[in-house]
Amino acid sequence: MAKIFCVANQKGGVGKTTTSVNLSAGLAKLNQRVLLVDLDPQGNATMGAGINKAGLKASTYEVMLGESDVKTARQRSEAGRFDVLPSNRELAGAEVEMVELDNRERRLKDALAAVDGEYDFILVDCPPALSMLTLNGLCAAHGVIIPMQCEYYALEGLSDLVNTIKKVHANLNPDLKIIGLLRVMFDPRMTLSQQVSAQLEQHFGDKVFNTIIPRNVRLAEAPSYGLPGVTFDPSSKGAQAYIAFGAEMVERIKHM
Ligand code: ADP
Ligand code: MG
Repeated sequence: MAKIFCVANQKGGVGKTTTSVNLSAGLAKLNQRVLLVDLDPQGNATMGAGINKAGLKASTYEVMLGESDVKTARQRSEAGRFDVLPSNRELAGAEVEMVELDNRERRLKDALAAVDGEYDFILVDCPPALSMLTLNGLCAAHGVIIPMQCEYYALEGLSDLVNTIKKVHANLNPDLKIIGLLRVMFDPRMTLSQQVSAQLEQHFGDKVFNTIIPRNVRLAEAPSYGLPGVTFDPSSKGAQAYIAFGAEMVERIKHM
């Protein structure tokens, strides 16, 4: 049975997709069987895994509307050695179209049940909004990974996400919990980064992952080659950090 994790933060540009793609590749390096679900109409995780989002035979969109299934729509990221349920801008329409459907916040959960036994990890790259798509991710998941930058406004908006997670936990998915906050794009030379990082540890204790992801240009360059950073430059500091994060997650699920 796969453990399912959402990578979520309603802010854009905080490293959700970079984390989803590179954690997937890092876990694959540790011989974990991984499915990456692209739940963002921008399709960045799809492209970052080396899959062309233009010519999809089926995508997350059809799967959520019940017009296709995960086994048909998934594709292999040869570069990352994991599977991908790919997306493109069509998925933006699902938000409106799902309003008419029964069980509309559980469409993803129900669809993933068909492949649950084939994976150790299913990671869901969420869009930058607390929308019906994100709600589907939260209803399907055992836990949430929250990437955040250690900057002045980092905690702003975090309470909205935490409250949403609490509501989903109480009303829709009793399994759901915050697995942890992941410090990303970290610059140890900045005093502010150090201060915010220490504040996070004080405030959230063991809900802060041990692994810290540094700011590393190789991670930012990799998508333009259609490769996860972990594959593009495995010895870079960014790649090494995501492999270490993979190991931390493997350890965490032993106690879940
Ligand atoms: P989100 O999915 O939350 O919108 P992304 O993962 O797309 O965020 O990251 C936003 C931008 O920051 C991208 O250009 C990405 O390449 C860059 N980026 C993310 N993480 C890092 C990092 N650790 N070091 C350097 N650049 C990063
Ligand atoms: Mg993204």
